[in-house]
Amino acid sequence: MKQCHLVIRESEKGKAVYADADIRKGEFVCEFTGPVCTMCEYKNMHDPLNNHYLQIDEDLFMGPSGNADDLINHSCNPNGGLVYRDGRIEFIAIRDIRKGEELSFDYSTTMDEDCWEMDCLCGEENCRGKVRDFKHLPRVLQEKYIALGVVLPYIVKRIKTRS
Ligand SMILES: [Zn+2]
Repeated sequence: MKQCHLVIRESEKGKAVYADADIRKGEFVCEFTGPVCTMCEYKNMHDPLNNHYLQIDEDLFMGPSGNADDLINHSCNPNGGLVYRDGRIEFIAIRDIRKGEELSFDYSTTMDEDCWEMDCLCGEENCRGKVRDFKHLPRVLQEKYIALGVVLPYIVKRIKTRS
């Protein structure tokens, strides 16, 4: 897998991924990879309490790769986000990240599945308490993530169709 600047360590939340170098805003950090399956297959295969699947299109999910990309945690105040480019899912920095900082993205930026949510323990001041589908985020936050380019295209399309 194409990646750089990562190290996996145990944290109080379980395994987490940290920057092992300073990373500049906008910089590519790693690619998300894994076996692709349909919504129906996903519903049969994922473990709701330890879910490493990522919804990548209307009816497509990406399963765990076994690499660091599975272990990047959610945060309500993330330092990274996922960009869909040329059929690939890339994790990029959305602000400057210091060496040693934990990497995170907002899971809601990839969620529009109506069937899964999780309690959030990120501990950030702006923590929403629950991680839910993108459509449930406050409008201002939706627009911020869309402007940063870190919302997967199928969700942006759905949001624009609805409004
Ligand atoms: Zn949170």
